[in-house]
Amino acid sequence: MIRLQRLALPADATTRMTTHTGEIAGIPHQRRSAAARKMWSGDRTLRAVIRARLAEMAPGLERCMYCGDNQGSDVDHFEPLSRNPLRTFDWLNHLLACSICNSHYKRDRYPLAADGTPLLVDPTAEDPFDHIRLSLTVGAYAPLSDRGAATIEVCGLNRPVLTRGRLAARTAVERALRMWDRARTLGDPELADEMIVTVREQPFADVCQAMLRTVDRPGAADVLAPEILRLLRSSALRRRLLA
Ligand SMILES: [Zn+2]
Repeated sequence: MIRLQRLALPADATTRMTTHTGEIAGIPHQRRSAAARKMWSGDRTLRAVIRARLAEMAPGLERCMYCGDNQGSDVDHFEPLSRNPLRTFDWLNHLLACSICNSHYKRDRYPLAADGTPLLVDPTAEDPFDHIRLSLTVGAYAPLSDRGAATIEVCGLNRPVLTRGRLAARTAVERALRMWDRARTLGDPELADEMIVTVREQPFADVCQAMLRTVDRPGAADVLAPEILRLLRSSALRRRLLA
């Protein structure tokens, strides 16, 4: 999970969202969730606009904003519609998720701290790396806070298929970085650019971001080979890859 910049929705979509929210607010409390759900599934055009905008914001090739592995197929309501139907048409409450993260892991879960504040980290609102740290040697996340622990658990960020995938992504990124360096040495800017695109379009964008941030940490040399460390420190590379 990496930090993502939220883009603006087209103005006509925003107007439509405001209208729908007003309609939901006018429905008696006990019928609001069911009505909001019906309105959400009924406005296919608006959902397509939202999904397309989220796909632009998503890491890599429209990857899921939680796992970073699968293609994002669903518009996820970060705060579940069942809990707060008034946020059904709230753009700030929409994320792109794969069906596995959405339907098998996160579902309707939205844990709160003892003081009532939400625990889950929204990657479009804050930097997940403030709450979770990715181990590049095992491909798993460790929590840095209670919110990080809740996010790892609810989103299933350490399921085995993801930890294995992250290790494979690290190998692919390192290979592409070495090729990028060779292409520059040989004066082949096209190949060098191709390697940057290869890295940017890899699933598991979190792996490359974790590598870029590891370089200045104590112990970086225990995790990354000297050649990879040298490349990751290059400002030319960081400018192109750092989220
Ligand atoms: Zn996912």
